[in-house]
Amino acid sequence: MIVIDGSTGEGGGQILRTSLSLSMITGQPVRIERIRAKRPKPGLMRQHLACVLAAQAVSGAQVSGAELGSQALVFEPGALRPGDHSFAIGSAGSCLLVLQTVLPALMLASAPSRLTLSGGTHNPLAPNFHFIERAFLPLLARLGVKVEATLRRHGFYPAGGGEIRAVITPVVGGLRPFDLLERGAVSDSFAESLVAAVPRRVAERELSLLQAALGWSGEQLRVPVVRQNEGPGNALMATLEHEQVTEVFTAFGEKSVSSEQVAMRLLREVQAYQASTAAAGPHLADQLALPWALAVHQTGQAAAYTCSEVTEHLRTNLDVIQRFLPVNAGLVQEAASRWCVRFVPSL
Ligand code: ATP
Repeated sequence: MIVIDGSTGEGGGQILRTSLSLSMITGQPVRIERIRAKRPKPGLMRQHLACVLAAQAVSGAQVSGAELGSQALVFEPGALRPGDHSFAIGSAGSCLLVLQTVLPALMLASAPSRLTLSGGTHNPLAPNFHFIERAFLPLLARLGVKVEATLRRHGFYPAGGGEIRAVITPVVGGLRPFDLLERGAVSDSFAESLVAAVPRRVAERELSLLQAALGWSGEQLRVPVVRQNEGPGNALMATLEHEQVTEVFTAFGEKSVSSEQVAMRLLREVQAYQASTAAAGPHLADQLALPWALAVHQTGQAAAYTCSEVTEHLRTNLDVIQRFLPVNAGLVQEAASRWCVRFVPSL
């Protein structure tokens, strides 16, 4: 049994999710100790328990310690069970973090899966639906995995109530690793403010600050139609499309935070990415690690991607991955805000 210390590195929920994904894929039982030890409320929160239960459902695992507040978990996976699954995360827990947990195993399964996930679709501190749809899934498609994701209903923190469907067509003939080193030319850039049961002027103020700061035209500023009963919620997103990669940055409206402050938060993330030449921004960088490592492991062929920042999430994810898979992950700084993450099969 592999023993993972959940207090190392970043010390949060991602160690748990990556361990569950890799346990399902490799068939290796895992014991995770000191779960989320670096968080103010350690142990399994509802969101994390939902990930454990989803992993159990798709792998028929024997599990002990799957309770709210639990700081240790033993997970012994069985055979994968692709097919139809519904996961209700409850409250506004992120649907996308549950998808992140089960997708790596289901994309390698022997049959397609159709998932229905209900909960939060646009949560702070988690990938949101548009980030997964536009940034993450197209790169997975290049590795050979087709995932059709549909946003049925928005769910914002704290009300939740959103729904996502995902149809996963597993890879045929193995993952196809590739190097993602450059962005390529810019093909489009636009900003959107989602406002549900929030005044439209919030969106207008946010977008006008971005327009002034980024020099974007009116066509690049959008207020998509969102059903008002899906709120309250406000997500401000910037999408930067390039030939090789699309990045999505998001900031959330909050009570007592002005529209301008929300726009400034987003602006700082966009400008940090624009100041770099790397392909992946900080969040995409930690989320690409697992699919890249799996592709390298399956084929024995090295592959790399560049990123603008090396976060503690990325470092920690690389450590967990190397506990399960015989791959070496190396980080090389190429410029002030450009790093290369390179995976090679270990001998
Ligand atoms: P905890 O409460 O333990 O901190 P958690 O389970 O909610 O944890 P993390 O361990 O912090 O979460 O992992 C969060 C994941 O969400 C990471 O993969 C991170 O890259 C991703 N993420 C956070 N913010 C964004 C964002 N704005 N866009 C895309 N992905 C994001």
